[in-house]
Amino acid sequence: MSTLFLRTLRDDPADAEVPSHKLLVRAGYVRRVAPGVYSWLPLGLRVLKAIEKVVREEMNAIGGQEILLPALLPREPYEATNRWTEYGDALFRLKDRKGADMLLGPTHEELFATLVKGEYSSYKDMPVILYQIQTKYRDEERPRAGILRGREFVMKDAYSFDLDDDGLKKAYNLHREAYQKIFERLQIKYVIVSATSGAMGGSASEEFLAESEVGEDTFVRCLESGYAANVEAVVTHAPDPKPIDGLPEAVVHDTPGTETIASLVEWANANLDGEYTAADTLKNVMVKLHAPGKDPEIVGVGVPGDREVDLKRLEASVSPAEVELLTDADFAANPFLVKGYIGPKALQANGVRYLVDPRVVDGTSWITGADEPGRHTFGLVAGRDFTPDGTIEAAEVRDGDPSPDGAGKLVSAKGIEIGHIFQLGQKYTDAFEVDVLGENGKPVRLTQGSYGVGVSRLVAVIAEQSHDDKGLRWPKTVAPFAVHLVIANKDEAAIAGAEQLAADLDAAGLEVLLDDRKASPGVKFKDAELLGMPTVVVVGRGYANGTIEIRDRFTGEATEVAVDGAVDAVV
Ligand code: ATP
Ligand code: MG
Ligand code: MG
Ligand code: MG
Repeated sequence: MSTLFLRTLRDDPADAEVPSHKLLVRAGYVRRVAPGVYSWLPLGLRVLKAIEKVVREEMNAIGGQEILLPALLPREPYEATNRWTEYGDALFRLKDRKGADMLLGPTHEELFATLVKGEYSSYKDMPVILYQIQTKYRDEERPRAGILRGREFVMKDAYSFDLDDDGLKKAYNLHREAYQKIFERLQIKYVIVSATSGAMGGSASEEFLAESEVGEDTFVRCLESGYAANVEAVVTHAPDPKPIDGLPEAVVHDTPGTETIASLVEWANANLDGEYTAADTLKNVMVKLHAPGKDPEIVGVGVPGDREVDLKRLEASVSPAEVELLTDADFAANPFLVKGYIGPKALQANGVRYLVDPRVVDGTSWITGADEPGRHTFGLVAGRDFTPDGTIEAAEVRDGDPSPDGAGKLVSAKGIEIGHIFQLGQKYTDAFEVDVLGENGKPVRLTQGSYGVGVSRLVAVIAEQSHDDKGLRWPKTVAPFAVHLVIANKDEAAIAGAEQLAADLDAAGLEVLLDDRKASPGVKFKDAELLGMPTVVVVGRGYANGTIEIRDRFTGEATEVAVDGAVDAVV
């Protein structure tokens, strides 16, 4: 330590709010360069590399092949998938000297898809899993908590390519299991939750969230069934519907001739107050009715006529300009939108109260459903966040809400996203026409998965889950050094003995941080606690009597052992 490039700080950095940020800066693991941009100093870099090692080993174990792509990228591939635009302000864009647009890669689905297209051409080449451990760039709106949310950060991103859905599922499960092993080895407390796919697109997706009060993600879980989901991805039903006084009971309208959206809209315009246009389809079942100028604009969700609606028929009945998709976000934002069939029975089964007189509920949200062709229920959903004056606020799922699987109540907690796995499907392989020649001689479009781990974020996450008021406490797998050996005795024999012990421990395969500074024992002990190696060995006063002290940084326990047996006692 007398030569280590390290200066510990007594005070917390002014911009730090969360413990991991304060401690990693105070203990000299990282230093801030700009908001969300950090330098790694010797101890911090050792933790980062130790985490990389675990990630690398588990990725290799599932057959992943490590490659390294550039972070500086041309615009074109991201233009082809529209992410140049969709990514918005989070994308670091720049121009080269010739004026060509470039970016710093936030994630690399496009590049891996085009890379595979360039190299592979036959079904015999498949499947393949490629990964990299690389620096990513995102101009985060709120860089936060030091390296927890950086604008430059290290991610392990892996991509699988398969011939069919079964292959993709297999690759997805391999990654899921690899991630479980990684986070167990890193001794992280985490949960796996269903997630929405966000900017990646695609279908099935799960997040790995480290449990932490400083997390920015809220998840809910049902202790009875093990169901767990990011709140952004939960669709559940209001547990405490509040009927609005003075509204009549449900009424079913006969709506003859409403087998198409257009005819349903026509019927609504002729028979209900307000102006209606049909504007939405979801998987050929759902229709959103818009009433221009009303608040909220979406006044109804309905199924036209019968349950099995054929998409062609649906499209033919709505002018293309009016068709837009009812998205998952719509459902996430509004728990009253029940996916699938909506009818009075479904509403009642879900514990939702509904009322129907359109003149009374004018201007508020509606649900319309059909029990059978030609019969519709038009209703106001009276539940939490629906108020008598007709306003609706996004309804957040809360503690105590029923679990969507009906198994019990939901409990909410905070988490930090440490990993995210996606079954992308063909979103990117379609964009770049990534085909290989199939067994029958015909081209096969590949299906892709994408799998990320926040490697640098994990340094902060472990610090967050593993510290006390005195400092950091690293699990053995990631500790910068296995042993922190403090020389707390000025006697020459003791100093020589400590140096010998350090050499012996080193020979036994334990890396040792030797505190050979000319500082007082008190200062050294404080620093040892702050830096957080799992085992602290003290060569102190007892050395004259042939003993040293071993302190466990986790339990705080101190044991005296004979100098002769010191190596065995530590190992
Ligand atoms: P978040 O919800 O925290 O913004 P994300 O969903 O945008 O993360 P992904 O695109 O899923 O992130 O990237 C994969 C992983 O990369 C994340 O699970 C997370 O661990 C890590 N990560 C993402 N953004 C950052 C960041 N700004 N700093 C550090 N790690 C990050
Ligand atoms: Mg993000
Ligand atoms: Mg996220
Ligand atoms: Mg994510």
